[in-house]
Amino acid sequence: MGKIDDSRLWERARRVLPGGVSSPVRSFRSVGGEPFFSERGEGPYLYDVDGKRYVDYVLSWGPLILGHGHPAVVEAVERATRTGLTFGTPVKTEVELAELIVDLVPGIEMVRFVSSGTESTMSAIRLARGVTGRERILKFDGCYHGHSDSFLVRAGSGVATLGLPDSPGVPLSLSELTISVPFNDLDCVRSSLDRYPDEIAAVIVEPVMGNFGLIEPMHGFLEGLREVTRATGALLVFDEVMTGFRVALGGAQDLYGVVPDLTTLGKVIGGGLPVAAFGGSRELMEQVAPTGPVYQAGTLSGNPLGMAAGLAQLRVLARERPYDHLARLTGRLVSGILAAAEERGIPASGAHVGSMWGVFFAEDPVHDYDGAKRTDTEFFASYFRECLERGVFFAPSPFEAGFTSTVHGPEQLEYTLMAVGEAMDAARVG
Ligand SMILES: *Cc1c(COP(=O)(O)O)cnc(C)c1O
Repeated sequence: MGKIDDSRLWERARRVLPGGVSSPVRSFRSVGGEPFFSERGEGPYLYDVDGKRYVDYVLSWGPLILGHGHPAVVEAVERATRTGLTFGTPVKTEVELAELIVDLVPGIEMVRFVSSGTESTMSAIRLARGVTGRERILKFDGCYHGHSDSFLVRAGSGVATLGLPDSPGVPLSLSELTISVPFNDLDCVRSSLDRYPDEIAAVIVEPVMGNFGLIEPMHGFLEGLREVTRATGALLVFDEVMTGFRVALGGAQDLYGVVPDLTTLGKVIGGGLPVAAFGGSRELMEQVAPTGPVYQAGTLSGNPLGMAAGLAQLRVLARERPYDHLARLTGRLVSGILAAAEERGIPASGAHVGSMWGVFFAEDPVHDYDGAKRTDTEFFASYFRECLERGVFFAPSPFEAGFTSTVHGPEQLEYTLMAVGEAMDAARVG
């Protein structure tokens, strides 16, 4: 296949798929240019339809912590396909995956499988509303919890504001029930809880913010959330769809030692197939149908292929515990990028938590949404394109976390940092 066929593919895509894609960031809108079509993934690399190779730091937006095509995952899926794609009855692997999750995640005694992160947070919030009899939820500016109506609410600036919908199609009467306050700002959380006594069903947070670049929780923030929610009867929900089995084997709750009431999982737990879950104490989870009154269901939930992939991936992680290695490698990547920026006088700051990482091209360190918005998006766009040109695939947006996998090593790192330096020079000149 030549370049001509490739660009025709993008034309064809745009004719039949809105924006040419099945999920908006894939379209490269915020960085310009055309996305490439992947044909094959292998370890730390993606290959496009022209055979060009990229070091992959997107990793399907998080699931592929073992890289592309890990033999244990691929074999498990191949085996599962031979005995049946879906049954609509319980399967053994579903029990085994649930047992492993319960074993490893501190806040989970029981778990319900679903098929996407969006479904998991939507269901967790329904459960929180159902058991508390309250309707309002509190989230944080810039945190992403999937695209269900209650979560598509624009950031209020500075103080807690009643939510306005971020998207047409979200009923105002629903988004009004969502309060959004700045990440890392406990005082704002306290004043919202005071302002609506006995009305807030849940406080939901990404314990490490990973959907507006990477922003770490400041010391005491998660502990503070635990305290104030306990004191006011709101449930604390950690959305660990990204951080679960990513920042540590037991997720962010294990890393920071703060146990939420409910946890949502996705991405890594499916090994690359559409699997997500929500879980919590036995007492709370037994309020879910059929043992309890809070309705939740799914035709393909707990399907044998997804369960096989997830189980195989989590078993490798539980056995090999690669988290120190991942954190060291990712630390070297981030400090390498920051050093390259500093050498060239390009303002940048960055951080990583385990193998989740982010770099902001901004003057000041970033602790929240407003800080992140001060990033130089124009520089980022041209830097991104220059990196891509050199075969390094970073997330095509200045506001997405990056990832590394267990099969990223010194070779990929060295190549990446060389490309990053060149890309910075080219981006500055351009
Ligand atoms: C990706 C993500 C979601 C949404 O998951 P989907 O599977 O894309 O619906 C929700 N919450 C967080 C924290 C995520 O990173």
